[in-house]
Amino acid sequence: MQMPQPDAGVLANKPRIAARLRAALGPRGVIDDPIELRAYECDGLSAYRCPPLCAVLPASTEQVAAVMKICHEEGVPVVPRGAGTSLAGGALPTADAVLLGVARMNRVLETDYDNRFIRVEAGRTNLSVTGAVEQDGFFYAPDPSSQLACAIAGNIAMNSGGAHCLKYGVTTNNLMGVTMVMADGEVVEIGGAHLDAGGLDLLGLVCGSEGQLGVVTEATLRILAKPEGARPVLIGYNSAEVAGACVSDIIKSGILPVAIEYMDRLVIKAADAHVGANYPDCEALLIVEVEGSDAEIDDQLGRIVKIAKRHNPVEIRESGSAAEAARIWQGRKTAFGAMGQINDYMCLDGTIPVSRLPEVLRRIGEMGAEVGLQVGNVFHAGDGNMHPLILYDANKPGDLEKTEALGAEILKLCVAVGGCLTGEHGVGVEKRDIMPSQYAEADLEIQMQVKDVFDPDWGLNPAKVFPLDASAGRRG
Ligand SMILES: Cc1cc2nc3c(=O)[nH]c(=O)nc-3n(C[C@H](O)[C@H](O)[C@H](O)COP(=O)(O)OP(=O)(O)OC[C@H]3O[C@@H](n4cnc5c(N)ncnc54)[C@H](O)[C@@H]3O)c2cc1C
Repeated sequence: MQMPQPDAGVLANKPRIAARLRAALGPRGVIDDPIELRAYECDGLSAYRCPPLCAVLPASTEQVAAVMKICHEEGVPVVPRGAGTSLAGGALPTADAVLLGVARMNRVLETDYDNRFIRVEAGRTNLSVTGAVEQDGFFYAPDPSSQLACAIAGNIAMNSGGAHCLKYGVTTNNLMGVTMVMADGEVVEIGGAHLDAGGLDLLGLVCGSEGQLGVVTEATLRILAKPEGARPVLIGYNSAEVAGACVSDIIKSGILPVAIEYMDRLVIKAADAHVGANYPDCEALLIVEVEGSDAEIDDQLGRIVKIAKRHNPVEIRESGSAAEAARIWQGRKTAFGAMGQINDYMCLDGTIPVSRLPEVLRRIGEMGAEVGLQVGNVFHAGDGNMHPLILYDANKPGDLEKTEALGAEILKLCVAVGGCLTGEHGVGVEKRDIMPSQYAEADLEIQMQVKDVFDPDWGLNPAKVFPLDASAGRRG
């Protein structure tokens, strides 16, 4: 994967730049020791690594603004980072960039149950947002599987989703406002403690902008009252296509489960070995969860089981207790980690219309077999957000390249059937060079013009999202 040449002038000025940053943040706030910088050389797409010029860990919006001002004056690119769990290389540094981590900014600033919001610093982890309000019967809905580690900052930048987003929507549907520092250090407020701010939907623009438009430092998030109860059911099939058809039928019926998750045999076995999930022995497993009162749950599950039975399942198993439900979800939420114990893997993220699931699953299996690579599937089936996991051996010459080529073909297949290149993991560096398979030149040009407005020097999160040749004339 190609990255731009680092700016020799910036590299030469490193001592002065680090000294200015230290003066602004204090010694704790700046890391430039080469060994310590290794912690920031990659994110969850660990096939690509590059230590940054230095890393800064500001403790407030004012400190972020000071860093941005210095970097703007010195002509230094800035790569914002939350927890570094991006699977698309979104937080991959360049050698001439300051990596700006918001991990120290993790406080709850305000909780307002009357108006159902919480305001947090952007470095707070996703799960600890719910942690701050659950004792009062509330929760924050978007639940990426990485929620124990990933930060709200990264969730906003990637417009992250999760298993329960089928009913509650993704980050953009649960975000009310942000404080953001612009490329030149100016601090702006977008949205606020109410839905639908006046004027253009700038919040919609910022959410999912992958660190291209500004550095988010605080967020106002919608919180919801916890449902009375929830219950998952496991439905096992002996074919991926039949499981896909069942998902399609559930969605078509108008029932809105809170989650419909899919795992294939490879992933089922890995999850079982990893956490003893005790899943049924089958080729394709659906976890369908509904919520509400006991009567509502019984009614919805009854209708779902009826649909499932029409497709001849090998097993249907309703969870009988809270402990069993927790074990079912633990298996699903740790499935990526479980697959990592088998081999290296590349996790893809594409979205397709739900009705195309059966044929796309079949085609992915065929495409993997054609090039001799195993592909596991675990994904949010209810909203058609697929995560094929391609297993490969990072130590085998040529395997990574073969994997990337297969990944690109699978994502192009998602586009070809009417879907898109990314559901929730973002474009980053991973999909940067296949953006033209989804967008015409004119579409990309308009997206780049939006960046021109927010970041005229193109110093924010370089070499991500836009193909390098398309943006070449714009980088300073
Ligand atoms: C095991 C595993 C499971 C996962 N499951 C899911 C899942 O279910 N759903 C899902 O959506 N994702 C999932 N992910 C991907 C990842 O966790 C999400 O993309 C997450 O939102 C990234 O958050 P982060 O804090 O780690 O961000 P980082 O990786 O640090 O950064 C991600 C992007 O956000 C930008 N960014 C970071 N901070 C800021 C800021 N303050 N201002 C502006 N831009 C910023 C970065 O530049 C980068 O482009 C998973 C990852 C792993 C490793």
